[in-house]
Amino acid sequence: MEESLREKLDRVEERLSRALARCGRSRGEVTLLAVTKVFPYQAIEAAYALGLREFGENYVREFEAKHPHVKSLPGARFHLIGHLQSNKTRRAGELFDVIETVDSAKLARRLNEAPRRLDVMIEVKLSPEGSKSGAAPMELPALIEAVRGCSNLRLTGLMTMPPWSEDPEESRPYFRRLRELAASHGLTGLSMGMSHDFEAAIEEGSTCIRVGTALFGRRPKPEAA
Ligand SMILES: *Cc1c(COP(=O)(O)O)cnc(C)c1O
Repeated sequence: MEESLREKLDRVEERLSRALARCGRSRGEVTLLAVTKVFPYQAIEAAYALGLREFGENYVREFEAKHPHVKSLPGARFHLIGHLQSNKTRRAGELFDVIETVDSAKLARRLNEAPRRLDVMIEVKLSPEGSKSGAAPMELPALIEAVRGCSNLRLTGLMTMPPWSEDPEESRPYFRRLRELAASHGLTGLSMGMSHDFEAAIEEGSTCIRVGTALFGRRPKPEAA
């Protein structure tokens, strides 16, 4: 029988507790971001009913369709975790509370024109095989300065997506590198770790794990963005 969302969430929380215990950290230090991309808005409602409050979506257009159904859930916050094209910044600034994928000063300046304050993270590309977007570590000092100069944006940390590997230990060096980069710039937020490798991310200091498959099951093929 298919496991219910409640059972899947329990298993994620158990894995999370064990990882936190191994490194002496507490549950309150970590946000569990429920990644609902490709699933219908009912997935957000179901996760909300179980107490989850932070949700990750990858595509502005896809979330635009779900937003009317979920925007009134008290305390729910929506993170954009997919690449943001500059022609969609205005809409993204209206729909999302957190943009985790800022990777250029131009994007930051456009988001800064949004009608309200936004929390943002800078996506860092730590290897050529990882996510296609993200700023190179070399570009970080200038980019951080540019984002900090945007009065409507609050820079909370860095985000990364290592190259895909089944072995979570392959992700660990990238997680460690992100933590070092954040620390060297006085940033504390670290969005790293997904369904298969979040324990390693927790051990390396993650403050936000982005979990889709482990909560909602395997995704149907994604729609075009
Ligand atoms: C889809 C996605 C996730 C969730 O991945 P799972 O392996 O399903 O947990 C996390 N982060 C980003 C950027 C994603 O695109």
